[in-house]
Amino acid sequence: MNKGVLIIGAGGVGRVVAHKCAKNLDTFEHVSLASRTKSKCDMIAKEILDMQGITIDTYSVDADSVEELIKLLETIKPRVVINVALPYQDLTIMDACVACKIDYLDTANYEHPDEAKFEYKLQWERDGKFKDAGITALLGSGFDPGVTGVFCAYAQQNLFDEIHYIDIMDCNAGDHGYAFATNFNPEINLREVSANGRYWENGQWIETKPLEIRVDWEYPEVGVKPSYLLYHEELESLSKNIKGLKRIRFFMTFGDSYIQHMNCLQNVGMLGIKPVMHNGVEIVPIEFLKTLLPDPASLGPRTKGVTNIGCVMEGIKDGKKKTIYIYNICDHQEAFKEVCAQCVSYTTGVPAVIGAKLLYNKTWDRDGVYNIEEFEAKPFMDELMTQGLPWKIIEL
Ligand code: NDP
Repeated sequence: MNKGVLIIGAGGVGRVVAHKCAKNLDTFEHVSLASRTKSKCDMIAKEILDMQGITIDTYSVDADSVEELIKLLETIKPRVVINVALPYQDLTIMDACVACKIDYLDTANYEHPDEAKFEYKLQWERDGKFKDAGITALLGSGFDPGVTGVFCAYAQQNLFDEIHYIDIMDCNAGDHGYAFATNFNPEINLREVSANGRYWENGQWIETKPLEIRVDWEYPEVGVKPSYLLYHEELESLSKNIKGLKRIRFFMTFGDSYIQHMNCLQNVGMLGIKPVMHNGVEIVPIEFLKTLLPDPASLGPRTKGVTNIGCVMEGIKDGKKKTIYIYNICDHQEAFKEVCAQCVSYTTGVPAVIGAKLLYNKTWDRDGVYNIEEFEAKPFMDELMTQGLPWKIIEL
């Protein structure tokens, strides 16, 4: 019988997942970490040994190659794979998991490197293969997607008869002191923010220009922050899975400095994803920009403040209208003290570990490919309380 968990990807999120898996060794029994650059895995392994006295194994792998992945899975024989590499690797890692009959989990949906577009289609299409192999794929087990889907499922299962309106609110009130930096992978972040916005209403998708819709919302325990409508991947699955829904939107806060820099970079072509020739060398502008920007992992020690991410939900309970906000507050410095990473990595990595725990101990056990809101939310909500991401519900 397979044993242990394999984490793929040793970036900001991978670091949190590795630390937290080591803290949950009573569940996972054994932890392995693999990434393209093995030295990054070794650095994290040393941190965990120094801080927790626990040894994890490290490997190098090119997760774009199904063949290499299968070899690795056959060597390690884990029970669950946690994919926290980039969205470009989702399909290859899923295919390797099917070949080796190992449960799969990720935090971001598949994206093709040459097209700034993400959707679940190609991952959902693998449902039959996962069913035939008798294994589970848990899609989107980060914070958003992830905990936001669990909040919606919990509200649907326990708090409402019908939910009509959902606004997912993502506020990072932290300050890293740089004029411009992204809190997670710059390429993925900037592709997401500079794309057209989109939301779902009465069965239709409504498209907006990038950052066209702004609301100034008062986040509990944080204050009023300008929040911009973006398209975000969980809208695709939640609009299908929350019954009776009339509208779902996603908002994220950005400071003026971030928006000014992003607009300027966009205007001069630095967010381009197509190669251009520079002095006889082919370069992709957004990849070059990534080289220039601070590594998100380096923001940890300098970021102060909190994040507040949650869902405003309006619906009906016992014939009466009801509006609530379910949310989590995460403190950047507290996260850094615990796992050497800031909140954006922490709030993604902790839910990935909780999802993996529920798969590992078979609390969530369904063959096929599922989004997180398709499972019973309560066990996940209970784990959030004890694993470092406590939540609150307030009536609005
Ligand atoms: P990073 O860029 O910091 O880390 C990505 C890691 O993946 C790097 O260590 C990189 O290796 C590795 N990697 C990239 N390509 C390959 C490959 N072909 N084979 C093996 N390893 C590879 O990203 P983050 O840690 O910030 O983000 C990780 C994931 O989490 C992303 O998919 C992101 O979209 C997702 N995310 C989800 C959120 C949510 O709430 N759901 C929020 C934030 C992020 P190398 O160092 O060698 O390049």
